Amino acid sequence: MSVFPQLSMKSEVREHLCNVYPRKEGLSELDKDEVFEALLSCLSHPPLFTCLRASTHLHPLQEIQHRLEQHLEQQKQAPAVYTHPQLPDVLLLPVHGPRHVDLLASEVIVGAQCGNAVLRGAHVFTPGILSTPKYMKVGDIVSVFSDVEGKCTRGAKEFKGKKVFLGNGISEVDRSELFCSDGPTKGVAIRMTEPLYQSPSFDGVLTDEVFLQNLPSVVVGHVLGPRPGERILDMCAAPGGKTTHIASLMGNQGTVVALDKIRSKMEKIIQNAKMLKLDCIKAYCCNSIHAVSADPAQEYSAGPPYPEESYDRILLDAPCSGLGQRPNMTYSWSLKEVCSYQPLQRKLLTTAVRLLKQGGVLVYSTCTVTLAENEEQVAWVLKTFPCLTLEPQVPHLGSEGMQGAGLSCDQRRLLQRFRPELAWRGARFSQSPESFLQNANTDTIGFFIAKFIKNEGAVIKVTGHSKDDSSESKENQAADATARGAAKQTEGTVSLMSLSPQEEEIQCCVICS
Ligand code: SAM
Repeated sequence: MSVFPQLSMKSEVREHLCNVYPRKEGLSELDKDEVFEALLSCLSHPPLFTCLRASTHLHPLQEIQHRLEQHLEQQKQAPAVYTHPQLPDVLLLPVHGPRHVDLLASEVIVGAQCGNAVLRGAHVFTPGILSTPKYMKVGDIVSVFSDVEGKCTRGAKEFKGKKVFLGNGISEVDRSELFCSDGPTKGVAIRMTEPLYQSPSFDGVLTDEVFLQNLPSVVVGHVLGPRPGERILDMCAAPGGKTTHIASLMGNQGTVVALDKIRSKMEKIIQNAKMLKLDCIKAYCCNSIHAVSADPAQEYSAGPPYPEESYDRILLDAPCSGLGQRPNMTYSWSLKEVCSYQPLQRKLLTTAVRLLKQGGVLVYSTCTVTLAENEEQVAWVLKTFPCLTLEPQVPHLGSEGMQGAGLSCDQRRLLQRFRPELAWRGARFSQSPESFLQNANTDTIGFFIAKFIKNEGAVIKVTGHSKDDSSESKENQAADATARGAAKQTEGTVSLMSLSPQEEEIQCCVICS
């Protein structure tokens, strides 16, 4: 049973996706249609478990598990906390839902991103609220809806457009405070008491011990396999989920350089590193396309750009069309925007290959489902850089790579794709402890991972990059969920060095070390 309507998107995007997505798989036309429909249905629903990455660089997993269980008991919530047999730093909690919740007369409308966070256990934070009843007061019990099409005006007193019910909650602010210029700009506005999907809120909970992260994202860190003392580059790092995981796996020994092009996102990397007590991370605001220097005399320690072959391992968790994100009920991008990522990713891949030492490891990942950004990129890399070969991934919890990009069966087996649609049986499926772990590996966001090794004796020929970066506007628009009133993280302070115009131009500057 689907509770929510399928993910809606522009017809040009739907048509394109339907034509390219499962078309080349060895399935009947009927099965292909079913797989595609299942994909659109599962993407609008949240995964039925919460995945927490435990700070095993600070404490043993069992201690963290125990403290989490104690915390949940104190909150009068006692869901089981499971460990994962193949991921030594993961704790899993079942999500209960969809539950029956009665609709109330008082309606609060929140933005779609905030709504998505609520479906994964967050309360509603002030910036996420768009509309409340005219006389809403602290203590009122209200029904919360998501404005899935982005049509509700901020400050409205009612909304008649398309909205999706998320559950009931209790107001912690008066309406009069919400929409005035000197009202609160952060903090919980509606505490969700009866969410449709129930999962504990981890806001401010064991902040240095657990980190909310999707399961495939945790798999990425293990596949990269960083070791203490190594020099690692995370080319597209904000908000630093994978950066901090890499540093944790290294026991905080060595160097993890975290780059991101968007200055406003750098603070989050630094906050997360501080919160998790990881000081081997150096974060720089930098367009990673330009992170390699042709000058062999360039000092590594001076920050980006770096000399060729500087890094033992590189993660390129690429900017992408994001079609694997769950839950998401409306995808508003145009086909042009969806297709704009392949060239950008190729430029980033080219820089990654240049910066990688011989014998080094490159991991490429995306949270999207298109062949163009996944298997086709792998085929392009193997053709363009004969010095790279595909490596087996450990652990391998997802499916193999998809057909249609000219990769052999053996090559596709070395890739890892998380395909939630293959296990989709409607929003309600059995969550017995035995089936739970199986579900946890399959009921994930859509995700893709490829692992390469750079052979010894490699020579790279580079023809130069254009400075064009076609996805810039989309990336800049993609403000993080915090800004839109969803889950909140601990606050930290950071000082940004001011930039000279020259530095601004090359978009590379040190902001923290
Ligand atoms: N790895 C991150 C994590 O796990 O928390 C998520 C990274 S997100 C998928 C992609 C990031 O790439 C965005 O933060 C975006 O700002 C950044 N980005 C986009 N283009 C970039 C570029 N040319 N250079 C560096 N960062 C870029």
